[in-house]
Amino acid sequence: MTDLTSAEAGRDEPLDVALRPSGFSEFIGQAAARANLEVFIEAAKRRGAALDHVLFVGPPGLGKTTLAQIISRELGVGFRATSGPVIAKAGDLAALLTNLEDRDVLFIDEIHRLNPAIEEVLYPAMEDFQLDLIIGEGPSARSVRIDLARFTLVGATTRAGLLTTPLRDRFGIPVRLNFYTPEELVQIVTRGARLMGTTMAMDGAMEIARRSRGTPRIAGRLLRRVTDFALVDGVKEITRSVADKALLRLDVDERGLDQLDRRYLTTIAEFYGGGPVGIETIAAALSEPRDALEEIVEPYLIQQGFVQRTPRGRMLTGAAFQHIGLIVPQGFVG
Ligand code: ADP
Repeated sequence: MTDLTSAEAGRDEPLDVALRPSGFSEFIGQAAARANLEVFIEAAKRRGAALDHVLFVGPPGLGKTTLAQIISRELGVGFRATSGPVIAKAGDLAALLTNLEDRDVLFIDEIHRLNPAIEEVLYPAMEDFQLDLIIGEGPSARSVRIDLARFTLVGATTRAGLLTTPLRDRFGIPVRLNFYTPEELVQIVTRGARLMGTTMAMDGAMEIARRSRGTPRIAGRLLRRVTDFALVDGVKEITRSVADKALLRLDVDERGLDQLDRRYLTTIAEFYGGGPVGIETIAAALSEPRDALEEIVEPYLIQQGFVQRTPRGRMLTGAAFQHIGLIVPQGFVG
């Protein structure tokens, strides 16, 4: 997977962080989710109570971390962040939880990757704001109960189905984030260009937006790389043709698909007659982890109508064959 179009978290450049919206007023898109959150935050503030636990579900780079930070800012409370794979021991989680103050936000990214034993510690903490810890080992071991501050857990995951049911059920506010429309991404690119001091023509912003896989993180990254090309080539304004040339050099095609997206489509088309073919087989053929295909590559290809998930495996559509320049096989019903 190329760094450029992979929307995976944890790879933000400093400028990415600088472009991060700091309040709802700067946050573009996800209107329904935002409107609901604003109501719940206002209600929690009026009650003087902690906001109910929030679960963000959606592909990487859509703004889950950004929204978690905005929630804490709008509530006027502290913000702590960690991620599922980083919490190795129950004690790590206990240390985080006992340091929270009243109504603070604790953000756990990739919460589906929490170790099951640690997840168990989280249940009473989320439900009763209590921590049950075992101190010592063997016959002298004893259990202690610690009262915690009433905090808000904000979890983020790429797919709700990856969470265990008891954990999922403990979130009072589940929020699904969707891919952004090209119009929303135009606003994000235009805002980013303004903050970076880049002169951006409307059709240039549209071109970058259209090719950003519906994802703000990718839009920001493409904007910066296109700006680099323009700077080095001595181009003053980013027009559609400037953006197009730079994006082709970056191997981002006219629908925003990158090399891996195209390899995925070509492999199913050429080796498996367009499918159906199982995800494990595709992952082995591409030498890519199954998770990355399911969480990063497929959601956008499905949303764009190139791939279908069927009970018998993945199937290409006619549009996918056309996109990669192949003829739809005779009798193929995709
Ligand atoms: P996630 O946690 O879902 O992987 P992030 O919240 O880290 O995504 O967002 C990735 C980047 O995209 C951020 O650095 C931020 O600058 C940008 N971004 C995300 N959502 C928006 C938005 N709605 N408007 C503008 N920029 C956004």
